[in-house]
Amino acid sequence: MLADPAALLRSVFGFEGFRGVQAQVVERVLAGKATLAIMPTGAGKSLCYQLPAVALPGCCVVISPLIALMHDQLRSARALGIRAASLTSVDSDWRETQDRLRAGELDLLYVAPERASGTGFRTLLESARISLFAIDEAHCVSEWGHDFRPDYRLLRPLLDAFPDVPRLALTATADRHTRDDILAQLGIPPEGLIISGFDRPNIRYAVQPRDGLQRQLQDVLAANSGPGIIYAPTRAATEQLAQGLARGGRTVLPYHAGLSSEVRAANQSAFLASEDMVMVATVAFGMGIDKPDVRFVVHAGLPKSIESYYQESGRAGRDGEPAIALLLWGAEDFVRARQRIAEVEPARQSGERARIASLGALVETAGCRRAVLLRHFGETPPPQCGNCDNCLEPPACMDVTETAQKLLSAVHRTGQSFGLGHLEAVLTGKSNERIVQRGHDALSVFGIVGREEAPLIKPVARALQVLDALTANDHGGLAFGPAARDYLRGEEKVSLVLQPAKARGRKRASGG
Ligand code: ADP
Ligand code: ZN
Repeated sequence: MLADPAALLRSVFGFEGFRGVQAQVVERVLAGKATLAIMPTGAGKSLCYQLPAVALPGCCVVISPLIALMHDQLRSARALGIRAASLTSVDSDWRETQDRLRAGELDLLYVAPERASGTGFRTLLESARISLFAIDEAHCVSEWGHDFRPDYRLLRPLLDAFPDVPRLALTATADRHTRDDILAQLGIPPEGLIISGFDRPNIRYAVQPRDGLQRQLQDVLAANSGPGIIYAPTRAATEQLAQGLARGGRTVLPYHAGLSSEVRAANQSAFLASEDMVMVATVAFGMGIDKPDVRFVVHAGLPKSIESYYQESGRAGRDGEPAIALLLWGAEDFVRARQRIAEVEPARQSGERARIASLGALVETAGCRRAVLLRHFGETPPPQCGNCDNCLEPPACMDVTETAQKLLSAVHRTGQSFGLGHLEAVLTGKSNERIVQRGHDALSVFGIVGREEAPLIKPVARALQVLDALTANDHGGLAFGPAARDYLRGEEKVSLVLQPAKARGRKRASGG
């Protein structure tokens, strides 16, 4: 007879009830069914295996990729009175741990994947009673994931060697490819997939092109009085932005890994205690800090992926009160992100490309931003949320397929090496020395864009870069990207989201 899960939840963990999908996950696990739980950070994944570990006879083996993470978990499990241990290179009590495992005196055993996949470990487990395999950070098993760890691939034989022991995979990463890959790699049937609610209804999402970063940030600061985080792409940028913004009178401090640990600790505790401070930080800031009243999170550049964006922007409004997540992007962010693809191993490049495309879809959409985010996490959200920039002020859209074709054609005819300034001059028929020298005034595309259409060239170029139809080299020279032909032939339409005319002065992301 198993202990009652609800009673254990109270007596061991001190919680009044399960949260979100926890009950569903625990129920499946206690019934011995293989499960993949996809839950956002902070949703309470650990409980999903810790409670079964206590409820079931035998020891739950937790596979976790980082020693630091394991030891955190270990400490908090022990604080609850759970009998927990780890077998890692920094543990000195191996013999004792092994003895306790064999004697049935452990509820939880944490190991790294490279250890878990070894034959010695399997032999050890065969001499003990195992209740559950919990595979934490399970996206590491997928080459599609952002954090592939080859050792995760070697876990399957271990899991299969214990057919009666249920397996529970856990992760916060959930794009469809990664998810399908985890199911396949770890041998979990599709009906074992449980996805928790990713929606953060009190966060108002807004996305804007970067056009005057300082001014845009000043607007946000002027409209929002509570504590806020601004994520900047580089250390230098954090310093520079913090300095510029501090002139407004508010306390604005930088935070990045290049600062001394004293300065970092001082800035962080100032932020935690403050009710109106702004931290300009690299993404190194925020992990493990829990400040419930952060009122806005601004990204001054493109995040790494939708997952990182969700997680970083999710530091706003943990108290459930209205909060703002604003993403400021530039076409050059996409260019740089795509250039970096070349630096990763070939096997992971398609995953990287898909991650950038998902970000492109988020910034380019004229529809609901929340719907884009939630669909990415496998949910089926309503088409409108009523609390993002596009739902609140539906943007006008304009079909610019023809302008896109003209621009692509000009790129092609001038040899795919000239920058936007030159191309604009060619398209609008403004002759200059360089154009004459190259004979570009004799091209069929010379002067085919009229005065009314001319202002569209820049935004169209930006859209085409996001859509991977144009790529820029280090000198700003534009060339065809993989998707160029589809747009050149007009097989794919290009539409521009027009900023509402009044929005610029009115701060779309002001929250008020
Ligand atoms: P994750 O691993 O998904 O990021 P954690 O397992 O670290 O999340 O849990 C996040 C926080 O939520 C922890 O402080 C945990 O104690 C708390 N928590 C988890 N489950 C519950 C619950 N059912 N009720 C209240 N708090 C919970
Ligand atoms: Zn919306």
